[in-house]
Amino acid sequence: MSELRKDPISGHWVVISPDQEAAVVLTTDVRFITPQETCPFCPGNEIGPVHEILAYPNHLPENNGAPWALRVIPNRLPILQIERSLEREGLGMYDRISGFGAHEIIIESPHHDLLLHDFPNSQLELVLSAWKERLNDLKNDLRMRYLSIFRNQGRRSGARLSHPYSQLIATPAIPAGVRQELTGARQYFEYKDRCGYCDLIDQECEDKVRLVYQNRGFIAMCPFASRNAFEVWILPRVHSHDYGTISPDQILDLADALLAVNRVLAIALSEPDINVILKSAPIPKPRRDRWLTLEEDYHWHLEVIPRITRPTGYEWATGMFVNPTPPEEAADYLRDVQANGR
Ligand SMILES: [Zn+2]
Ligand SMILES: [Zn+2]
Repeated sequence: MSELRKDPISGHWVVISPDQEAAVVLTTDVRFITPQETCPFCPGNEIGPVHEILAYPNHLPENNGAPWALRVIPNRLPILQIERSLEREGLGMYDRISGFGAHEIIIESPHHDLLLHDFPNSQLELVLSAWKERLNDLKNDLRMRYLSIFRNQGRRSGARLSHPYSQLIATPAIPAGVRQELTGARQYFEYKDRCGYCDLIDQECEDKVRLVYQNRGFIAMCPFASRNAFEVWILPRVHSHDYGTISPDQILDLADALLAVNRVLAIALSEPDINVILKSAPIPKPRRDRWLTLEEDYHWHLEVIPRITRPTGYEWATGMFVNPTPPEEAADYLRDVQANGR
């Protein structure tokens, strides 16, 4: 039986529709291989003189003597550029901002075709540390408002190269979808005087039906109003609005949880294409009081989204996603796969 569900924080509605073929199911395309010889992210192929934003020297034996373990470089074809000036302009009823921003590539490993679920813990910890370092650095540029970090794995997720990498895009405006979630989080806090995500963690740990994995610092669960089949969120148990505050211990625990989730998804869904999205609070502007409460009412988290279905005209028309897999069934299946290793 299908039903409509509302996310308690963002307020978005979804249709959970297991009874009909509501979704276009995609085949996996995660193991597409682009040539290593010409890969711009492989050691030895570094295209100079690219300005290197950050590099971690290689101390890990599994990286076979590569000169670096991780590098951050500017995107060669950025959608936004930090060199441009920030110019705002009104064109009658329209607003326009120059293409100012930042677009960085985090080359996550010297290995050319490593999928996330095969990462060693120590390598993923470097990636999570680099995310923190880049966020905290770009936060100092007061022209930026929102910093988005995400990774695409597989062609269906938007990846162009098989080399593992994540991207950071910083914009001088807060995207509308993020704004809706922030507004919902603030309204929840105003109404209940508690963080909605902290409440979510408490309830999911008590109910257990949508829980997928937990460790000392994090829980992973399929959200009640999942927009996508087998979508998993990973949330820190300790309240914080800003990923930039993550501690070294939390990085260990987050790497463990992210790997556990990706490993179980890889087994359960035969290595699906996957997006991983970091949701962290925007940079507050002291003059604009509407976001002054971010510290108490937002709670950073990761969203892991297997790309096994494709949005149809209905999703584009309404913004209301149709999900063919109830999150309770998805979580139950993922727990079963973890327990039985199949
Ligand atoms: Zn490569
Ligand atoms: Zn919280």
